[in-house]
Amino acid sequence: MASELHLDFTSDNSSGAHPAILEALVAANSGPAAAYGADEWTKRAEKALSKLFEREVAVFLVATGTAANALALSAVTDPWGAVLCHEFAHIAADECGAPEFFAAGAKLVGLPGAAGKLTPAALQDALAMMPRGVVKQVQPQALSLSQATECGALYTAAEISALADIAHSAGMAVHMDGARFANALVSLGLTPAQMSWKAGVDVLSFGATKNGALACEAVIFFDPAKAQNFAYRRKRGGHTLSKGRLLGAQMEAYLKDGLWLDLARQANARAAELEAGLAALPGVRMPWKREINEVFAIVPNAMHARLIAAGGRFHPWTPRALETGQRPGPDEAFIRLIPSFATPAEAVVALLAAARG
Ligand SMILES: *Cc1c(COP(=O)(O)O)cnc(C)c1O
Repeated sequence: MASELHLDFTSDNSSGAHPAILEALVAANSGPAAAYGADEWTKRAEKALSKLFEREVAVFLVATGTAANALALSAVTDPWGAVLCHEFAHIAADECGAPEFFAAGAKLVGLPGAAGKLTPAALQDALAMMPRGVVKQVQPQALSLSQATECGALYTAAEISALADIAHSAGMAVHMDGARFANALVSLGLTPAQMSWKAGVDVLSFGATKNGALACEAVIFFDPAKAQNFAYRRKRGGHTLSKGRLLGAQMEAYLKDGLWLDLARQANARAAELEAGLAALPGVRMPWKREINEVFAIVPNAMHARLIAAGGRFHPWTPRALETGQRPGPDEAFIRLIPSFATPAEAVVALLAAARG
């Protein structure tokens, strides 16, 4: 049973770390190193990120995406500020109030939009409801975009720019939740700069954990001046690792020789195979265009039962994310399947075989 094929598509964080990252951790383990992120691994990772983003950036490594998002937002929002985001955004739905907590009470305002995407119209509508200077209301201070969204959808560079322009004209900062930044990047074929600061992003949560790291994310400020107090925020928030080299070593190995891009391409390719196989089966509906390594499908209940019986693991997804006309009927189930960098092609083949019955 050692080489048993796992049909686990619950999420990309059900996979462990990529061997190259574990090896880097083992290598970084020997000998002394400066503590609290002053080590050589962290310095090299910071340099690598500046090179990657084609400008000098301020980098802060943390161990979770929730910490990255919450701390990043706290740096650009007053306690009386509002963070505008999609109503299903991870920061609003999956972080247990951490952004509000770290931002000392700033309010998250969830906006509607198909496939988890915000539109200029929805953003403008929301801003019209929150005039500046009205003391009864929280003041809009940040726009947070998830790239990819919680429905696996992507903003093009032009779409990010259009939203960022509106936000900047309203005096707001633009945050990007890039827990799956790599998957989005290789799908769109953009450069990291094009998908971030060149499109108007001010601060980025750059994910690595889901795409091969053990536990490592970077908060990246494209204007280092905006990061002046961030070191205190991170320490106060309990995310300044004593043995900071363990984060630096992960990030360095993640970026080395384009490993991060290769891993994202693999995960996306598995998802493309899964999508093609499922879409060809009678009774299967795909509500959204697949863009990264997330596949959403509405499947007949009988097929759902076969997938489970074959050992398939995946999450049911909320029909609230669907347009009313697309919602599953009584004989259907709405599911989300996520292959990771570590999902073998055979697992996709086996799951599809179970789906066919
Ligand atoms: C996974 C994920 C995160 C990070 O979550 P943690 O569990 O805190 O690491 C952030 N945003 C999105 C969209 C995610 O999918």
